[in-house]
Formats: sequence, structure tokens, C-alpha cells
Amino acid sequence: MSDLSGKIALVTGSVQGIGFAIAKAFAEQGAKVGLHGLAEAGQIEQASKELRAAGAAEVRFFGADLRDVAAIDEMMDDVEQWGGADVLVNNAGIQKTAGLGEVEPALWDAILSVNLSSAFHTMRRAMPIMAQKGYGRVINIASVHGLVASVNKAPYVSAKFGLVGLSKVSALEYANKGDRTAGGITVNCICPGWTETAIIEPQVADRAAQFGGDRDAGIADLLKEKQPSQRLSDPSEIGALATWLCSPVAHNITGTSIPVDGGWTAQ
Ligand code: NAD
Repeated sequence: MSDLSGKIALVTGSVQGIGFAIAKAFAEQGAKVGLHGLAEAGQIEQASKELRAAGAAEVRFFGADLRDVAAIDEMMDDVEQWGGADVLVNNAGIQKTAGLGEVEPALWDAILSVNLSSAFHTMRRAMPIMAQKGYGRVINIASVHGLVASVNKAPYVSAKFGLVGLSKVSALEYANKGDRTAGGITVNCICPGWTETAIIEPQVADRAAQFGGDRDAGIADLLKEKQPSQRLSDPSEIGALATWLCSPVAHNITGTSIPVDGGWTAQ
């Protein structure tokens, strides 16, 4: 695995869910972790404590609302002062299902800004500094919905396809920076299928309601529809993959979108 001691890793939306699991995996490799998200003081304190206990060399919290470009810029100023992100994970995301005719413009704007535009705003600032260092990793948490569509997810699918495109362009632009020993600069997407976090709860609840409120039956039905393994992913599995992508040995893996989807996109 990767030794991240001395490295600064900013993980957006890391106070919970997949982001927290990635931050924890990085902490276990001794990284200095930039913890980020919208959360109450208690949740921030708890997450920071767990990251320190896992081995983080340092934990700094950033509370930028990713719908606010000026707030993202301020966060990136602070990260630059800290030393610049060696690893940047654009993980924060929001999701709401609705048919195209029911999607209000404000919902479209919110999903596009958090799930797509914020990655542009962080990468624009972080990547030139990575190039100077000769090492950098950008890991964008897209989705199977960056690769295939589903009904009632127009803003989300549009944002995630956009994130895959942004990652490919930036991967090309930075492909020849750095060298094999340092690890170079890579940009990749991880594309999860159903993963056990808060973001899927409204969809689980809707499906469970069709089975008289039986949550397990609801989850089984969701999995049966799209995810051939019939198993949810655990967020720690995404953390393990992200950590591996950070190692210098992954210097030639760039511009890819790696599904963690139990076969969903193989169909
Ligand atoms: P989650 O709801 O548990 O976490 C989302 C995180 O984003 C939170 O930490 C939250 O604070 C942060 N966030 C939301 N809006 C924000 C804003 N305006 N400003 C700053 N931070 C904000 O969900 P999760 O499942 O851990 O999602 C992480 C990523 O994984 C998302 O991009 C999501 O689209 C993607 N994903 C999840 C699944 C799944 O099944 N869980 C599947 C595919 C992709």
C-alpha cells in the first residue's frame, strides 16, 4: 500500500460516508488530512478524533460550502498556505431523484455545483502546485451514473458524466509531469454502485415502503435491479482503492474511471 506520511490529503465531504472512509484510510497511512464537509461541531470533533486515532499526522477542518465559489477559493488559499494538497479527493455530493419535468432549476444548479463545478474549482487551484512537486493524485468520486444512466436522475447523471470528462481532460494535461520515482500526477474517477451511506437512505426508504417498511427487503430489491453481486459496498472498500491509487506504483493509471459496482456496468 501507499505510505502517505508527509503528504497533505484534502478530502471533500469527509465528515461522513465514503469521504470519511477515504480520510480514515489515508490517516492509517500517516497522511495530514484535510477534513471537510457541512456538519455540526460534535460530528467534526468526533471525525477528527477518529482520524487522529487512526494515525493521521495532522487533521485540519474546512467548512466551505461547495455551492459558494468564493468559499472554495478561501479553502484552497488555506490549503496552499498549509503546503498544498498532494492528494485531492473530490468526494462531496448530493442526490435527489425526480423526473425531468419535476426538477426545479434550483435543484439542477445545486447538484451541478456540488457534484461537478466544485471539482473544477479545487483542481484548478491544486493541480499546478502538484505539477511543481512532481507528485499529485486527484481522485474524483463519480458513480456508476458517470458511466450509465438511470431514470429520475438527470442532474446527478449529468454532473457525474461531466466529472468523468473533467477528469480525463485534466489527466491528459498533467500526464507528463513528474516521474516514475516521485509518482507523477494522476487523475482518476472511482465509480461506486450502491454503497452503504446516508445518501442512499431516501431511495432505500422508498423501496422499503413497497415491502411494508422492510428495509432489508427494500435493499435486496434495489440490488436485484442493477447490482449483480447483490451486495452493497462498504465505504472502507472505496478507501482502500483510493489509498492504492495514491502509491507511486500507480503512476501510469490516469484518466480512468474505475467501477466498484458488483458488475452493474458490465451488463
Ligand atoms: P453522504 O451523504 O454520506 O456524504 C456526502 C458528503 O458531502 C457529506 O460529508 C456532506 O457534508 C458533503 N456535502 C454535501 N453538500 C455539500 C456542500 N454544499 N458543501 C460542502 N459539502 C457538502 O454520501 P456518500 O455516499 O458518502 O457520498 C459520497 C460521494 O459518493 C458522492 O459524490 C456520491 O455521489 C458518491 N456516490 C455514492 C454512492 C452510494 O451508493 N453511497 C454511489 C455512487 C456514488
